[in-house]
Amino acid sequence: MRDPYAILISEFMLQQTQVATVIPYYDEWLRRFPDFSALSRASGNDVLHAWQGLGYYARARNLQATARVVADRYRGRFPQSIEQMQQLPGIGKYTAHAVGSFAFNQSVPIVEANTARVLTRLFDFRRSIESLAGRKTLWEYAASLVPKSNAGIYNSALIDLGALVCVPREPKCGICPVKKFCSAKDPERLPVRKSRSRTTRLVEKHAFVVRQGKILLQQSSKRWRGMWILPPLQTSVSGQPLHISTFPFTHHRVTLAVYCRPAPKRIAPEQQWFESIDRIAMPSPHRRAAQSLVNSCSRTNLKAFGVGLHVTAVKTTTQHEG
Ligand code: SF4
Repeated sequence: MRDPYAILISEFMLQQTQVATVIPYYDEWLRRFPDFSALSRASGNDVLHAWQGLGYYARARNLQATARVVADRYRGRFPQSIEQMQQLPGIGKYTAHAVGSFAFNQSVPIVEANTARVLTRLFDFRRSIESLAGRKTLWEYAASLVPKSNAGIYNSALIDLGALVCVPREPKCGICPVKKFCSAKDPERLPVRKSRSRTTRLVEKHAFVVRQGKILLQQSSKRWRGMWILPPLQTSVSGQPLHISTFPFTHHRVTLAVYCRPAPKRIAPEQQWFESIDRIAMPSPHRRAAQSLVNSCSRTNLKAFGVGLHVTAVKTTTQHEG
């Protein structure tokens, strides 16, 4: 049996994120939170701080919520029943089957991007895999192939086949070990997906407020729940922003525009002054904006922040920041 905790962490991190990005986060996470018990006892800020930069922060919140259930209800031992796993926060069919198969060697199928591509080609499945019926059929195909023993090795091999041989463009059919079972007539056209929804552009305006060497931040209750962001501007603002950057968020392309604002007499309950942003959980676009503005301020030695500052370089993040 392999460590279900380590497998669960890797499965959560790899949702929507590439392996190369995940590796340093994974190593650091296991160092800071080596097991369910350690994760369940950590502060919410520490957990989000460790996840910072991976995006889709609901994954971090769900991991900690799961760790708390495992610590309380299962005395720190991850349940082996797929049904019980799927009752834990953030754990759906794929993740439960991945842990069941990789940690406990249970004979259960998995369907993720790589295996979905291999399966649609093996079975020459030409309906959309994004429809409910299409997903159901794929799971049935996967279940029909999974062996009774060594399912963990088999599922890993299927993922590797998709990642290395049955690749999206120019699949290497000439060296494919399952070529004689494959029904694909035109593999590059598979899998079939619905046309992607168009990207919507959004502009989000936030304030850069500093006073006596401290920066004002607000704890988000929305997209980045629990993390600290530059205070949103409710009223319409005009003039040149101090900082502009863009980042992707689900089907949106968000422009973050940050404006200098004077310190208010009173701050909102969800706001707080910070001397340093190093140890607090902030979504990457806001951390980069705050960092670059603070650097600009100290470089130009402006006591009254915001006077004569230039717009900082436009940067585009590659990681989704949901
Ligand atoms: S033969 Fe080609 S299309 Fe079929 S599984 Fe192998 S690589 Fe994929």
